[in-house]
Amino acid sequence: MTDPIEQQPSPEFRSGYVNIIGRPNVGKSTLMNALLGERMSIITHKPQTTRHRILGIYSDDTMQIIFSDTPGIIDQPNYRMQEVMNRFAHESFEDADILLFMVAAGERYQQENPIFKAMNTLDIPVFLIINKIDLFDQSGLEDYMRSWNEIYEFDAVYPISALHDSGVKGLLQAIREKLPEGPAYFPLDQLSDKTERFFASEIIREEILLQYSQEIPYSCEVVVERFKEEESKKGPILHIYAVIYVARKTQKSILIGKGGKSIKALGKAAREKMETFFQQKIFLELHVKVKENWRDDERTLKHFGYQ
Ligand code: GDP
Ligand code: MG
Repeated sequence: MTDPIEQQPSPEFRSGYVNIIGRPNVGKSTLMNALLGERMSIITHKPQTTRHRILGIYSDDTMQIIFSDTPGIIDQPNYRMQEVMNRFAHESFEDADILLFMVAAGERYQQENPIFKAMNTLDIPVFLIINKIDLFDQSGLEDYMRSWNEIYEFDAVYPISALHDSGVKGLLQAIREKLPEGPAYFPLDQLSDKTERFFASEIIREEILLQYSQEIPYSCEVVVERFKEEESKKGPILHIYAVIYVARKTQKSILIGKGGKSIKALGKAAREKMETFFQQKIFLELHVKVKENWRDDERTLKHFGYQ
């Protein structure tokens, strides 16, 4: 691996963490896809389990931006002001250099939402990103932007359409101007802090969710045990060996299906997605194993990466 420092072409290189907050569906993943390309789109379907996670890493010759988000901070059902302020200050924004508050055009907020008081206490720039402006006409958009003046005084407002890649370059330049000077945190060709194995298991999990009914997906855990590029007669091929753990024998037979029909369909769909994602030929091997009550077994949970 190359040292990221040596890859840096410019002495005024800038880098930093940008936290995006907003309700679900405002377009955070779409913005990441616009910036990083379709290969990241799998992230869209990742269930929101962690409090603070990296969405993607954008790098060019002049800067590196590490985008992350903090799910669920805005509309907590029983929030108390102090709790929101505390979470905001201590957990989520300590390492952010810029905060992007993202809304879909037309979306409303109450001025009393504690998030705005909390924002006031930050000493980092806070931008309002109004996404999906393609759904509005000019005058409707101007009215909507004006309505924000009464709610909060942002450092800047950027209307964009992440889906149509409009306003995104301007936003990047605005972010650059506010980023501190400094070296890249990650290699410049890295799009995420997640490993390729992680994406492989996410793709399998996603296909299990799509192809089986309710109970099954939630009793499965996918572990990629082997992830290796090999030579074949037709050129290099990525050999992925994954085990799907289930909690009971009956779940195993459902997963496999009559004559192996279901697991074959699962494997085919997952392989095709992986070939698009990794842009490479894939040989995917799937095995189903029963690990009774893995959900209750502490050692197994550790093995699967749960705390
Ligand atoms: P997230 O939950 O914030 O990550 O939102 P997503 O990126 O998953 O987007 C939610 C939905 O909004 C998807 O159906 C997107 O295609 C759509 N969307 C995102 N950006 C735009 C946009 O600029 N214009 C329009 N019309 N739709 C968008
Ligand atoms: Mg998303």
